[in-house]
Amino acid sequence: MRIDAVTLFPEWLLEIERYGVVGRGLREQRLSLAAWNPRDYTDHPTRRVDDRPYGGGPGMVMQSAPLVATLDAIAAQRGDNERAPVLLMSPQGERFDQRWAERLAVGPGFIVVCGRYEGIDQRFIDTHVDAEISAGDMVLSGGELPAMMIIDAVARLVSGVLGDDRSAAEDSFANAILDHPHYTRPPSDTVGDVPEVLLSGDHARIERWREKQALGRTWLRRPDLLDEIDLSARQRTLLAEFVAEYGREPQDK
Ligand code: SAH
Repeated sequence: MRIDAVTLFPEWLLEIERYGVVGRGLREQRLSLAAWNPRDYTDHPTRRVDDRPYGGGPGMVMQSAPLVATLDAIAAQRGDNERAPVLLMSPQGERFDQRWAERLAVGPGFIVVCGRYEGIDQRFIDTHVDAEISAGDMVLSGGELPAMMIIDAVARLVSGVLGDDRSAAEDSFANAILDHPHYTRPPSDTVGDVPEVLLSGDHARIERWREKQALGRTWLRRPDLLDEIDLSARQRTLLAEFVAEYGREPQDK
């Protein structure tokens, strides 16, 4: 998988190569990341890539030509059979989520375009962008953080990036519900005790407890997720138990 990022701050974006499991995955070439600066693809003497908005108003707008030239350079280097989608980071886009990450993780990679200033000339968006993606309902000063977010979420789904492929399969959203709580040593501390069942060594009981907690958390925190899936008979039983216990007992039942 190959990811290309178009950004005025390539050094910043490439910092993700230095940290954590995703950084290691990139260094080990399980996936590759290249950052492209549109300033390198303008013939303007001061490498300018923005200009004032037609119609007036504050701020500057990124021009089309340097972005188109950057995409051309990327396409020449990629030479994909299967064309990689061009994703524009935008607060007006579709909200990014795990489903998006899963879809991107099985493709040939993608090209993220990071906006700056007031945004990008609409004609570039109309002609060169396959999807606009939002990090959420807030306005950031640039598309770099959303791009890093997407790259991170996709990279950890690429085989071998996480130490154990099961980690991703058990994460929140992977099964359309949230993850169960996690505990580690010591078993007892000023912050409390580890639920007894996790120390029991009884794998069937532990599995049942985890599944129940995951369903219960989803019910408490994100009931909207439960509306979207059909629970199995086992899941319905576990959730009913959780609901019956909730409020009377601590969650470690
Ligand atoms: N005037 C624009 C916002 C420009 S912010 C508007 O109101 O829609 C500058 C750039 O930051 C955008 O072009 C986009 O690439 C990025 N950006 C800002 N907020 C974002 C968000 N929530 N998700 C994804 N990208 C965002």
